[in-house]
Amino acid sequence: MKKGAVRGNALRVRPSDLRTMAFCPRLLFFEVHVPRERGIAELLRLYAGKVWHFLIELFSEGEDEVAAEGAFGGALLKGRADLVRDDAIVEIKSGRGPREGVWYGDFLQASAYAFVLGKRKIVIKYRDKEVEMALKENHEIELVEAIKLLKMIIEGYLPPPKRNSWCSKCPYREFCDALGEEGDDWFPKLPWVKTS
Ligand code: SF4
Repeated sequence: MKKGAVRGNALRVRPSDLRTMAFCPRLLFFEVHVPRERGIAELLRLYAGKVWHFLIELFSEGEDEVAAEGAFGGALLKGRADLVRDDAIVEIKSGRGPREGVWYGDFLQASAYAFVLGKRKIVIKYRDKEVEMALKENHEIELVEAIKLLKMIIEGYLPPPKRNSWCSKCPYREFCDALGEEGDDWFPKLPWVKTS
C-alpha cells in the first residue's frame, strides 16, 4: 500500500513520517507528493545506517524489527520498531543526539511505536548517548496533535518551510525556493529538541 493510503476510514501513516515532519514539514510534503529516486550517496548512507542498526540490535536486549500497527489519533499507524523490550520501545539512531534530551522527531516516532504497542517508556540510542523517557498523558496529547498536522500534509496541505542548515543539501531546494518563504502563520513551528 502506498504512503498515506486510506484503509477503511483511517489514513495510513508511518511513524517515520512524523520524524520527517518534525525536521521540516515542507520536506515531508515533497516526499509524499513529489517522490524522487534516491541518489547513490543517499543510498550508501542508508546502507551504512542499516549496518549500524543491525550491529546495535545484535548486542541489545529485546526483540528486533517488531511490526507495529494500530489506530491512534484518527490514523492507522504502521511501521517497525527497532527493538521492543518488556518495559520500553528502543529506537536506534546512527547520528548524534542533541546536547540535552532527544531530537523532537525521534521522540514523536518512538512515542508512536510505544503507544501502538502499549509501552509507557521510550529509549533512544544515539551514536554518542542513550536517553530514556517515561511517557505521560501530555505526551499522548502532543502526539495526537502532531498526527493531525501529518494527516493534513498527506492529504495535500502545503506547509510553510522550516529553514535549517541542511536546506543547501535538500533535493527539493529549487521547488521550495520557488514557493517562497511565506506560509500560514498558524502552522506551528515544531521544536528541534524534546527535553521532558
Ligand atoms: S529546502 Fe529546507 S525548508 Fe525547503 S523543503 Fe528542503 S529542508 Fe525544508
